[in-house]
Amino acid sequence: MRRGIAVSPGVAIGTAYVIHEIFVNPDTKRLKDTEITAELANYETARDKAGADLRALERKVDAQVGHEEAAIFAVHRSILRDVAFTNKIRGWIVDDRMTAAAALHRLLGEYTTLFSKTNDDYLKERLNDVRDVVIRLSSHLSDQLKPFGDEELEGPVIVVTNDLLPSQAVVLGDLDVRGIVTQAGSETSHAAIIARSRGIPAVSGIRGVLKRIKNGDTVVVDGRDGHVEVNPNPESLSAFRKLEREFFDLKDHLAENRDQRAETEDHTSLRLEANINGLPDAIASSAMGASGVGLYRTEYLYLTHPDVPDEDEQYEVYKEIVANSPNHNVTIRTLDIGGDKTVAYLGHDHQEANPFMGWRSIRLSFEHPDFFNTQIRAIVRAASDFPEGTVRLMFPMVTTVEEIRRLRNMVRRAYKTLVGRGLPAKELPIGMMLEVPAAAVSIGTMLDLVDFVSIGSNDLIQYLMAADRDNPKVSHLCQPLAPAVLHVLKNVITACNQANKPVTVCGEMAGKPKAFVLLLGMGLRRFSMSPAFIPSIKQLASQISVAEAEQIVDSVMKLKTISQVKKFMTRQIEQIAPNLTILDTPS
Ligand code: PEP
Ligand code: MG
Repeated sequence: MRRGIAVSPGVAIGTAYVIHEIFVNPDTKRLKDTEITAELANYETARDKAGADLRALERKVDAQVGHEEAAIFAVHRSILRDVAFTNKIRGWIVDDRMTAAAALHRLLGEYTTLFSKTNDDYLKERLNDVRDVVIRLSSHLSDQLKPFGDEELEGPVIVVTNDLLPSQAVVLGDLDVRGIVTQAGSETSHAAIIARSRGIPAVSGIRGVLKRIKNGDTVVVDGRDGHVEVNPNPESLSAFRKLEREFFDLKDHLAENRDQRAETEDHTSLRLEANINGLPDAIASSAMGASGVGLYRTEYLYLTHPDVPDEDEQYEVYKEIVANSPNHNVTIRTLDIGGDKTVAYLGHDHQEANPFMGWRSIRLSFEHPDFFNTQIRAIVRAASDFPEGTVRLMFPMVTTVEEIRRLRNMVRRAYKTLVGRGLPAKELPIGMMLEVPAAAVSIGTMLDLVDFVSIGSNDLIQYLMAADRDNPKVSHLCQPLAPAVLHVLKNVITACNQANKPVTVCGEMAGKPKAFVLLLGMGLRRFSMSPAFIPSIKQLASQISVAEAEQIVDSVMKLKTISQVKKFMTRQIEQIAPNLTILDTPS
């Protein structure tokens, strides 16, 4: 038995399919003058073969999985054709007398150093794409290695890999993948995101797993507490089969609750909304039965753009998102850049000592009034196209009352400009994200100035506990179930409810069973989460009454430590929803 991090809940059993990293261990050999031309030709041949692979995979995935999934191979072909990429490799072969394999290894090293400081999922993804292409090229430079993607496998499989590469994830769409085990990785790795969006149990961060599991082994993935069993004895296997069946039955049942109302056992209506980064997530949120989009993170539009996208371009993107979101209900958040996500064209070309406490979100947007006004106008224009929907405008990282006044003035000016141009300008609800402890303290004053509040618990917890949410050394402090966090949340939710201002929690905790029950008991009725969690939270809600949740909160507020709260809540979830414990997670 091996322990790792539970990154996607459930229990699965299958035959191991081990994907070894097919990276050639580069030789340190220096080429002779007479060998250089031949090595350049070897590299060109490998490039042609890799290009042919990618075209074939693109066609196959397009036909068998889907158009969107096939797009990744076009991205990889563009990396393969990238002039800077190719010139670097050729330069090292010619000038430094390196073999093509060694040059590829060096290039990957350079990119890895460049990206190593980021926690941003999008940038990590781009590094994964480069790695993917480098590994494919390397496999064509060696006779012994076979590129991934042409295996014929039957029956349920558990994929065991270092970290899932993007092309592997897509090709796996063909197989009956029941679970994923990775050696590297964390809750935000590619493997974890894929597993959660497909509802597949996954465990990450198990050191040495590639050496310990062989192709054909029977593997059990237990995503409840993050452990993996290899070739278990018959009694243990049959116990896990029972759990796996329970998990499948539950998944089937949850898939059917898409059109059911989101309400508690005593019929109190809830809004379960989705957090999205772009169009595919908006589409997924409808498929998962969300009542709207509670958080659209617009920064991905900027991160994927070479310069500031202009007003018309942004308007088109926002319009398409609203058109594809459930009931045309979307809360659009203005750019939240800074911290670990930086864009050079907005002035992020210097290092800050404390980026998370520095030039981030609206603090940065205020210093770029042109671009900020452009974004606000584009959002107002998109909203005006959907008179029957509700588009809300939300600002991240609000810290002071003065900031809210300034933001409201900017929005007023945007309406005026649009009307001056003869365009419709629908007045939008304007809200703040509550992520900074100072805002939690001043919530009483701030509520007079906003139409709604959305609690960004991911940031609020890290600022409250003074513990970086992405630093594993201090992650034991970043706990939604910490008594201090629960007290602050209860105060803010109570203040909003008393002032009659809609309040949502849109951090990760909204989709976790234990935290969900507590938030419900504190009086929260609007929750926004990853689309994948909506069906199970809808089910959990239908099994608990508001009075029960309130009683649980009364008891929990008397507890003094994180572990007492966790233990107490584990027992509560077992009692309220024994059918869902398979989907519960440690926090
Ligand atoms: C949050 O901080 O909880 C939040 C939802 O915003 P983000 O995760 O984008 O910082
Ligand atoms: Mg945040």
